[in-house]
Amino acid sequence: MSAPSDTQRMEKIVSLCKRRGFVFQSSEIYGGLNGAWDYGPLGVELKRNLKNYWWQVTVHERDDVVGMDGSILTHPAVLRASGHVEGFSDPMIDCRTCKAHLRADQLVEKKGVKQCPNCGGKDLTAPRQFNLMFETHVGAATDESSIAYLRPETAQSIFVQFKNILEVSRKKLPFGIAQVGKAFRNEINPRNFTFRSREFEQMELEYFCRPEQGMELLEYWKEERLKFYKNIGIPRSKLHVLTVPDEERAFYSKGTYDIEYDFPFGRQELEGVAYRTDYDLSQHQKASGKSLEYFDEETKQRFVPHVVEPSAGVDRTVLALICEAYSEDQAPDEKGKMETRIVLRFHPRVAPVKCGVFPLLKNNPQLVAKAKEVVALLRPHMTVFYDESGAIGRRYRRQDEIGTPFGITVDFETLGEKDPALRDTVTLRDRDSMKQERVAIKDLPAIFHERLA
Ligand code: ATP
Repeated sequence: MSAPSDTQRMEKIVSLCKRRGFVFQSSEIYGGLNGAWDYGPLGVELKRNLKNYWWQVTVHERDDVVGMDGSILTHPAVLRASGHVEGFSDPMIDCRTCKAHLRADQLVEKKGVKQCPNCGGKDLTAPRQFNLMFETHVGAATDESSIAYLRPETAQSIFVQFKNILEVSRKKLPFGIAQVGKAFRNEINPRNFTFRSREFEQMELEYFCRPEQGMELLEYWKEERLKFYKNIGIPRSKLHVLTVPDEERAFYSKGTYDIEYDFPFGRQELEGVAYRTDYDLSQHQKASGKSLEYFDEETKQRFVPHVVEPSAGVDRTVLALICEAYSEDQAPDEKGKMETRIVLRFHPRVAPVKCGVFPLLKNNPQLVAKAKEVVALLRPHMTVFYDESGAIGRRYRRQDEIGTPFGITVDFETLGEKDPALRDTVTLRDRDSMKQERVAIKDLPAIFHERLA
């Protein structure tokens, strides 16, 4: 069942994303390019933190996974073998009244009659298959022989490089190959902000195994992926595991889960975890004529490995992180009057800026110099934002709104003016509780090391 949508909340999130520099429409000054987005200074940090954490837990912290970075331009033979040239399409219907191009599953049905969701028109074309791949030409000629595609998923380059990577990494089954990178799909109807884009990033793992391990590893990876989302601040209660029914699953898959999240616009897929059997490697083996078999030295068996694939969207997860973090509460302003505070409650692990540093007054050279010392102390360890303009409360609010978990204020006590025992201490403010504690500057790296881990 789909969660109810909350249009107002989504509008506030989209507006905050633009106002504070998380996400902008691509080519905005020329009217925008539909389905493409540019990440601003904060968005790019958030996105990097997400990708880095995925890479850390999927590749660096494991013995059984290695990484790769494949090309985006893809040989047509690869995508013919994988089935994308023939079958990577959505049924498309046009509304003759408002001229909208629609995916067949977006039509609304009233009293048994299909209608256009935009204008309610009933004059619709018959569905026709629309291939979602972006085709391009490589080299000077622009004929059949020069066709190449922008990859529609990162997975295929992993399958195609399976043998090379197996040889160089000398891994034994089960083992995985991970990749983070761009993918392109000419979606009929990009919508819901960045949720359905034409250019997006994926974080994919192909985990190769013996046939008899497939179903068990499907469960294992589903659980690992749920843990991942919890560790970046998405609570289990907002995630839903959909077992994709037999009739909707790819014919070669023996089991697929969709991990869904309750976005403000409804419950939608974040990630697919699929047991794809030996379909991909077998297809490429057949089409290329090159062996993609694995040789088991103990049993002397030779076979094409099976694969379990957790495939997550970077942009969809970034959007889920922002939607989950967005909140409004009441906090006192400078004069103690309560006002609405917008706060992004990011998990410190993914927050774009970890710490704001503020001298109490910008026209006091000693406070400013001390605050800059604190910045220099912390910068090698984390992203720090130095801000000296405006009342201190306003500076806190600006950081709350972008989700900075900690704020440090350098005041006269830091200079030892009131109590020599407090010299070289600062206040450390917590974004969520707004509580402040007094800590020694020299202890800051260790405190953050613990709180940002
Ligand atoms: P959907 O049903 O929403 O079109 P899908 O099932 O086709 O998605 P997959 O092919 O399984 O998606 O791709 C794996 C992941 O890549 C998805 O779970 C999603 O996070 C991401 N993804 C796929 N298409 C898009 C898109 N158009 N925009 C943003 N992310 C996408």
